[in-house]
Amino acid sequence: MYRSRTCGELRLEHAGEEVTLAGWVQRSRKMGGMTFIDLRDRYGITQLVFDESSDAELCGRANKLGREFVIQIVGTVNERYAKNDKMPTGEIEIIVKKLNILNASEVPPFTIEEDTDGGDDLRMKYRYLDIRRANVRANLELRHKFCLAVRHYLDEKGFMEIETPVLVGSTPEGARDFIVPSRMNPGQFYALPQSPQTLKQLLMVAGTDRYFQIVKCFRDEDLRADRQPEFTQIDCEMSFVEQDDILKLFEGMTKYLFKEVRGYDLGEAPFLRLPWSEAMRRFGSDKPDMRFGMEFVELMDILKGTGDFAVFNDAAYIGGICAEGCASYTRKQIDQLTDFVKSPQIGAKGLVYARIQEDGTVKSSVDKFYSPETLTAMAEKMNAKPGDLILIISGPDMMKARKQLCELRLEMGQRLGLRDKNKFALLWVVDFPMFEWSEEEGRLMAMHHPFTSPKPSDIAKLDTDPANVLADAYDMVCNGIEVGGGSIRIHDAVLQAKIFNVLGFTPERAQEQFGFLMNAFKYGAPPHGGLAYGLDRWVSLFAGLDSIRDCIAFPKNNSGRDVMLDAPSCVDPKQLDELYLDIKPTDK
Ligand code: ASP
Repeated sequence: MYRSRTCGELRLEHAGEEVTLAGWVQRSRKMGGMTFIDLRDRYGITQLVFDESSDAELCGRANKLGREFVIQIVGTVNERYAKNDKMPTGEIEIIVKKLNILNASEVPPFTIEEDTDGGDDLRMKYRYLDIRRANVRANLELRHKFCLAVRHYLDEKGFMEIETPVLVGSTPEGARDFIVPSRMNPGQFYALPQSPQTLKQLLMVAGTDRYFQIVKCFRDEDLRADRQPEFTQIDCEMSFVEQDDILKLFEGMTKYLFKEVRGYDLGEAPFLRLPWSEAMRRFGSDKPDMRFGMEFVELMDILKGTGDFAVFNDAAYIGGICAEGCASYTRKQIDQLTDFVKSPQIGAKGLVYARIQEDGTVKSSVDKFYSPETLTAMAEKMNAKPGDLILIISGPDMMKARKQLCELRLEMGQRLGLRDKNKFALLWVVDFPMFEWSEEEGRLMAMHHPFTSPKPSDIAKLDTDPANVLADAYDMVCNGIEVGGGSIRIHDAVLQAKIFNVLGFTPERAQEQFGFLMNAFKYGAPPHGGLAYGLDRWVSLFAGLDSIRDCIAFPKNNSGRDVMLDAPSCVDPKQLDELYLDIKPTDK
């Protein structure tokens, strides 16, 4: 028997008990004739005591233990003289009688403690050591709990977890696929699924009624803090439902998860359902952070053409936000904000500001172009009070200018401490447009995906005005993060063919790529819809992490590399031969 107890469970009530423990040496201190060792396992840390005066040989061996040695001890639980109320086992210690070294360890490349001295790259290279740290492990435990709670909730609601294949066919819509060459079918490739979208729809045609899967998805995209080439979705689909049925069920699940896993009560009230166009108008974003206000106020009517300011006179959009109590911002602070909006990531041409002074008059960076009355009218429309600071962004492209103002709003929210990680603001964004124009492709693209149903009342517009067709699509948003999204699907082969037509597919190509789905629709497809949650995003939100990487056991870095496994890597020429593949020379 390696152990009778874990390193996290012994308390004062166990005093006198003889125990066997096993774990890693966290650290060791020698004080006079006593040696203290913190022994760690997944469950906690227990202090071991070796007393030179009672067993010099044993104590001598203990003194030679290095960090991360794996040991087993036998000893007696003893009440501590100096208690440590910061650790759950802080009232006891173990007086050790026997020590057995199970495995030695080299000096680890960084210390395995909460605040480690290891940089990101080093920690990723030795991720198995990083995961020994309590805070990293806690994230994985949270993830596990989250998944259990999801399975419990969905099972109760009649959902069945069904696995779908990982080797599927490549599809042209959406992100770039990861592809896998097929040895048995020379010159042909599988793709890894970007999501099981079409498969779960086929499961609805198959009559499974309520499906879910906690599933890996793969997208070959450029990476950011909240993106990984492989990530996990909680993927769900239901038959015989309307949008409202889906939103209600998953709102219920969200509230349950918050309560069970995060200990946070979201209350009884239904989530706000914000139409996409309103979200864009009020927050410049389809995933607004609603923990704070600072809503956009459009100022075109007041500032365009009423003064000598060419920038505003040429603008397609002028909008402002009001930062309460920020009129006292110094020149330097305003310059910082200006630099922020002009940075290449944001791309605004400049920032106009106006301070509302104590006497109610307006002092702005465009005073020389506008009459005091115009500026006062502007301040009134913004509902600004003495002491407030108005920040204005404009531009020739409305979407871009709104996006820039959105970034500024988030930055101000951050500066003013309004984006509290322990507060959660949830909503649905609904009524998305069906299509968006892609400059790159020179055609309309599906905003959600091509299987999304247009709103029934908009179907007639598909021929005449596709850009203004709305979809039965929805996203769940939490604290400015899209945590899930889905739609009611098309279940009619003719309508599905029509959508492919709008997307620029010839009937032949649509049949070639998506024939399997359209054919299935000919055999009695039920009305259906669903959504997928991003598991990694949820867990990092619950854990208050800045990056989803911290809740993934073995994540990839920003170049899509696993630095621990050193993958991707070159393969043996023989493997390439078997696959009939040649590698082209590259300068990368
Ligand atoms: N498959 C979709 C996605 O990955 C989600 C859905 O529509 O259910 O975004």
